[in-house]
Amino acid sequence: MPHASTTHYDTIVAGAGPAGVMAAMNAAKRGPVLLVDSSALPRDKSCGGMLNEYAQEFLASFADVPEDMIIEPVHVNFRYWDWDRGIKKPTQLRFLNVDRRKFDHWLVSLLPDSVEVVGSHAVQSFEQDTQGVTVTIKNGGAPEQLRCENLIGCDGARSAVRRTVGAGSIANYVTLQDFVRVEGELEPYFDCIYMRDIGDCYAYSYVVPKGDVAIVGSVYYPKTKRPYEKHDATLEMLRRAMPQLGDTVKREASVALSIRHAHDVAPGCGRVLLAGEAGGFMSPTSGEGISYAMNTGALAGMAVANNSGENALGAFSRSSDHVAANIRRKLRWLPFMESSWGKYLAGFVPTAIVSRVTRGL
Ligand SMILES: Cc1cc2nc3c(=O)[nH]c(=O)nc-3n(C[C@H](O)[C@H](O)[C@H](O)COP(=O)(O)OP(=O)(O)OC[C@H]3O[C@@H](n4cnc5c(N)ncnc54)[C@H](O)[C@@H]3O)c2cc1C
Repeated sequence: MPHASTTHYDTIVAGAGPAGVMAAMNAAKRGPVLLVDSSALPRDKSCGGMLNEYAQEFLASFADVPEDMIIEPVHVNFRYWDWDRGIKKPTQLRFLNVDRRKFDHWLVSLLPDSVEVVGSHAVQSFEQDTQGVTVTIKNGGAPEQLRCENLIGCDGARSAVRRTVGAGSIANYVTLQDFVRVEGELEPYFDCIYMRDIGDCYAYSYVVPKGDVAIVGSVYYPKTKRPYEKHDATLEMLRRAMPQLGDTVKREASVALSIRHAHDVAPGCGRVLLAGEAGGFMSPTSGEGISYAMNTGALAGMAVANNSGENALGAFSRSSDHVAANIRRKLRWLPFMESSWGKYLAGFVPTAIVSRVTRGL
């Protein structure tokens, strides 16, 4: 679809990730919705493709996850791995293993006809007045101005909507992921690995089996210099211990929110609502974001569907307050999880307790 087909919508949603799709799906109960994404659709989001139990429960309430997007091993359990001390702590935390590109495409396919979906168009700017929001959308050609009652920003970790509305920006982790050939068999774990030698800028690495390949990722604190070199070093160490990890077939670089403060969570301003990562809704401790995005996207969509334009934000703030409280609770764990003494002590905690605590992170 080259561009939007009308100039007035009840709701415009920026970003067609899990938050944007759920926002659009629910907002459509009030009237016409435009869902725009700056990427070409179907998009390719760098991701481990791990659906936790909350994401699975959310989806089970309205649709069955199609089998063609599920990857072997179908379920993988989360495991902590203290690399230097050779301590592994398998947990009961279980994930469904999906192909993220297919998953995102499938979510978009669930949208009703009253949602117009437009790829390769970015929300560039907007202005609010007492009657609604004027949104400027751009696709490389002349900018187009559209009107709506509410704008929902679901435009991810580098949200332009969040910045424009004055909700402040959040620092980003740098993430690097290699898809590597698997020679032999990997254990069915989502391994989260901590190595001391990589340096203070390094948060952790992870390995997830994905059919014929495995994702080997590493995460660095904001402003890390030369992350590619560090990622190469971690890959080399991992390959030495796990000879099943073969050649790299694809490499991706991306960013994820580094939530540090309760005020990083911001549901919006005026007639503009923020959901998913744009609103700071993501686990600050595990980096899990799909369940937060779907949940807060749905709540934002319901808020605009059930309230007049100027009252939608209040309704969304109230309905999403338990998510903000969940994030505040998790933030208390960060100093422990990020310190070297915390990581050291974790090695002595019985596996059953690590497993129980991890479910809450
Ligand atoms: C490397 C990596 C691995 C991850 N692995 C997992 C995992 O295994 N499990 C998990 O639960 N979470 C994981 N996450 C987190 C998860 O991917 C995100 O939290 C989730 O996708 C957030 O959804 P969202 O809808 O808020 O934003 P996004 O999925 O980021 O979607 C935002 C969309 O907005 C679009 N956009 C940006 N700017 C504009 C604009 N101006 N106008 C219009 N559109 C715009 C973008 O193109 C994008 O499509 C991972 C993240 C990273 C970086």
